[in-house]
Amino acid sequence: QAKSDGRSCFRFFDEALQPSIEFKASLENDLRDAVFNRDILPYFQPQLNHLHEPIGAEILLRWQHPKHGMISPAEFIPLAEDSDIINRIGTEVLQHACRQLAVWQQDPATANLVLSVNISARQFMQKNFVDTVLSSIETHQCSGSRLRLEITESLMLKNINELAIKIDKLRSHGITLSLDDFGTGYSSLSILRSFPLDEIKIDKSFVDHMLKNANDAHIIRTVINMSSHMGMTVIAEGVETDAQEAFLAKHGCLNYQGYLFGKPMPMEEFNKYINQHMNAVKI
Ligand code: C2E
Ligand code: MG
Ligand code: MG
Ligand code: MG
Repeated sequence: QAKSDGRSCFRFFDEALQPSIEFKASLENDLRDAVFNRDILPYFQPQLNHLHEPIGAEILLRWQHPKHGMISPAEFIPLAEDSDIINRIGTEVLQHACRQLAVWQQDPATANLVLSVNISARQFMQKNFVDTVLSSIETHQCSGSRLRLEITESLMLKNINELAIKIDKLRSHGITLSLDDFGTGYSSLSILRSFPLDEIKIDKSFVDHMLKNANDAHIIRTVINMSSHMGMTVIAEGVETDAQEAFLAKHGCLNYQGYLFGKPMPMEEFNKYINQHMNAVKI
């Protein structure tokens, strides 16, 4: 039916490019119709300290597409970021996070868990972004200090003054900010110079290479050292082996996230994970 809908003329220009443009357009349409908690599911990946006690989780979305199966956020988040779809999805994730935090706060065993939510630059720069966050907290009566927002340095490309005001306002409500994918762009240090942040998240690509590549090892050691001097905690993402954990621990990185400890999982599974690990720690 593609031939009859008037778009077949693309074929005339570039036979090879056409399917991917069309596929993207159709995916974007499907994304617009996708329903949070039915098609788009929040998964939770555990974060642990050096004693292997769970300290929190990061929410990572999974899109269960009716025709194409599971689609990775690495694919659909950039699509959503091209339009205002990201704002709708982002708001749903925040609501979900606050609802979950409120549940955890009922139980002393989970009351201290921190939930991290990824925030796109486009979403963060929305005029009412801070109000959206604060009203999610208010609606669900959860503690702001258990909510962590993961931002990336791509935010630096936007209005700096507005950014500073928003960061201050969020932090004044106890909400913490984490700098995700640290070291992968060009302005990781500029963002640290300009804004007070609470956590640095060492990108998986450094963790992948630090045992083989001396430069990556030096960078990691320096980042850990710098973070502690600047009053920030540091967490390593993508930790897959004992050797990686041992290296990080030896150099003072005491928080970890990665397949070594747990993959992103649905909430029921995560609750079981927490129960098992809390018990293991108590014994
Ligand atoms: P990210 O925030 O840097 O998330 C870390 C990614 O590393 C996740 O990929 C996670 O599943 C993966 N990962 C963690 N540990 C390991 C490991 O040990 N080995 C390997 N191979 N991978 C590991 P995922 O879930 O595919 O998410 C990709 C990206 O999509 C995220 O990168 C984030 O930028 C974006 N994303 C996911 N959910 C959201 C969301 O709710 N909002 C926004 N704006 N972006 C999101
Ligand atoms: Mg993240
Ligand atoms: Mg990351
Ligand atoms: Mg990333």
